[in-house]
Amino acid sequence: MERIRKIGEELLELIFPPVCLLCERPGREVICAGCREQFVPVESPYCVRCGRPLPESAAVGTICGECRQSPPQFDGARAVGLHAATLRDAVLKFKFYGRRRLAEPLAELLAERVAMEQADPHGLPWKDLTAVVPVVLHTRRRNWRGFDQAVLLSRRLASLVDLSCQEQVLMRRKDTAPQIGLTPTQRRANMKDAFVVAQPEKVVGESLLLIDDVYTTGSTLNEAANVLRRAGAESVWALTISRAVPSWHPQLGQRLGDEEDLQVAARVGI
Ligand SMILES: [Zn+2]
Ligand SMILES: [Zn+2]
Repeated sequence: MERIRKIGEELLELIFPPVCLLCERPGREVICAGCREQFVPVESPYCVRCGRPLPESAAVGTICGECRQSPPQFDGARAVGLHAATLRDAVLKFKFYGRRRLAEPLAELLAERVAMEQADPHGLPWKDLTAVVPVVLHTRRRNWRGFDQAVLLSRRLASLVDLSCQEQVLMRRKDTAPQIGLTPTQRRANMKDAFVVAQPEKVVGESLLLIDDVYTTGSTLNEAANVLRRAGAESVWALTISRAVPSWHPQLGQRLGDEEDLQVAARVGI
């Protein structure tokens, strides 16, 4: 039986040779080494609170102006890399084009980012995390898309880092308009009262890691953290695949990386 299955797989690969889902070059990896090399990491210095990349002149350990002016509801946010180049491709293909196989390598990247903090003596206290919580979509949007990207990432991540995945605690009570293309103020207004904690008993005293795909202005994560904190969470952290490219960034320059995402979103009709 095993042999037949193997022959079947080999035949299938002969007809449809496996390719990298990003560059479509032949290979067994869902994201090939060449595409991984093009990821742009969020390098130091960055805001220790929200993870925003800061110009080189900023001191390590800085808290950015925005976080000082209005401290976020989450204790700290980090991302795998900038929302640019191949990592942005990966997020868009996963989210808007339904390439679910990307959940696996993307969750591995999240797990590596968690391990990085845990191994760093000056890192975030992520050894104390008790559960992973996806920033869920509204049921209507999930049904339309057929899957919830944050849930897929969270399930896989939770098993990789040996935490529980609490996908029922946070619920969207508002089917908010997509955040893409909105100003920071509009985003905040759009997200107000968007979430509700469905199972407060699973939140009290916990140290939670919120998972979402992109950090743009942080308003979604901020609102989710807000309700979890009010429900009694001890601490709420956030981790995303990508992070909006800041306007000052020398190589990338594209403001939030938002305009092109908006076009993609319009094309596939979110
Ligand atoms: Zn590739
Ligand atoms: Zn900040």
